[in-house]
Amino acid sequence: MTHMLIIGGGLAGGTAAESLRDEGFGGDITVVAAEPHPPYQRPPLSKGYLAGDEGIDAVILHPADWYAERGIRLITNVAASTLDPAAHIVGLADGNELAYDAVLLATGAVPRMLPLPGCDLAGVMTLRRLDDSDELAAQLRGGRRRLVVVGAGWIGMEVAATARGFGNEVTILERDPVPLAAALGPEMGEVFRALHLDHGVDVRTSVDIERITGTRRAEGVVVDGETVEADLVLIGVGAVPDTALAEQAGLRILNGVLTDSALRTSAPDVYAAGDVANAFHPVLQRHLRSEHWANALAAGEVAARSMQGVPASLDDIPYFYTDQYDLGMELSGYAPLMRDAELVVRGDLEAREFVAFWVDAGRVVAGMNVNVWDVNETVQALIRSGERVGADRLRDTQMPIEDI
Ligand code: FAD
Repeated sequence: MTHMLIIGGGLAGGTAAESLRDEGFGGDITVVAAEPHPPYQRPPLSKGYLAGDEGIDAVILHPADWYAERGIRLITNVAASTLDPAAHIVGLADGNELAYDAVLLATGAVPRMLPLPGCDLAGVMTLRRLDDSDELAAQLRGGRRRLVVVGAGWIGMEVAATARGFGNEVTILERDPVPLAAALGPEMGEVFRALHLDHGVDVRTSVDIERITGTRRAEGVVVDGETVEADLVLIGVGAVPDTALAEQAGLRILNGVLTDSALRTSAPDVYAAGDVANAFHPVLQRHLRSEHWANALAAGEVAARSMQGVPASLDDIPYFYTDQYDLGMELSGYAPLMRDAELVVRGDLEAREFVAFWVDAGRVVAGMNVNVWDVNETVQALIRSGERVGADRLRDTQMPIEDI
């Protein structure tokens, strides 16, 4: 019987397994997950789950018996350690081997570490796994701790907001002049700086991190010659694709596992999806590695089809969301095109109720709605249409957004 093997118990892997069965695949399916949990999604780990507002059901896609009921073999707490594309065999860390007809690499990403040569980083925390979130929650729940977050990216900013919600003292240390500068550019980054300042976070930018003090537990961060004391240091300086298995298998890798838009890698019957995959985007006509929830979901579905030989293509407009304090935001668009685009704001920047458009040669390439709801589909339609639209129309709040 045909055997579909999925490596990785994140959203991409879990979705692929579910889609295979939903679409009527009747053969064998195995999911191999290195972590001790059934496949789960990560966004709540820095938000509702970390805050204690949501339980484990908001995190795991399905309980373990759901997989058994559908005849999906779930192997947890064991990593795949070798992949032989020619022999179609995956070796597991426990010594077992699995033969496959098609295999999906959905191994995700791992936290990037700070390049601080000679510095003991054993006592710092990162947030990627469910267990990290549990550990962090245990530390933050009582409030009154001094949390230093290194890196004003999405995860750092979300953890800062959740930690403030518990009443902890929070300092953010960022190398760039503005928070979220790489994701949003300076003007929109300032919106998030103001948000955190308003909630009592000490946001320090353009700082040079020299050292982390403490051994078993980080006790401070030395920046520009000054020590910022801490009970807890969280490093949130991005993630790197987990390509260990793909490298061992000799797959083509460039900022992740290179795939075509059907998520086929350079080896026959080997697919890659989610954070680990640098997939060719048919609209952009270039490879794009997207580290977002919506991409992992869509990619899991596309991979399931591709693995069965059904034509499929990953051509969604990248989508991301965040929740921090009372601010909710959705961002749709093509990050590589945002850098040189003109920013057009519709609505009230001060009140943090607006839609920002990134416009390149008259065309909307990205749009971000902040505390404005039910507009994301319209934003996506504007991007997808590729039509030229005047900045005045985009700005004009008298005109309904769907009429732009
Ligand atoms: P992952 O979720 O990383 O899963 C990969 C899994 O594969 C891991 O469990 C790993 O242990 C396992 N694995 C790796 N190697 C092996 C191996 N050799 N054998 C077996 N298993 C292996 N995105 C948004 O759009 N919005 C958000 O608000 C948002 N918030 C986030 C908050 C946090 C704290 C984090 C960490 C991420 C957040 N993201 C968010 C990003 C989003 O969660 C990722 O894009 C998504 O998790 C990618 O899913 P994935 O399945 O590709 O990889």
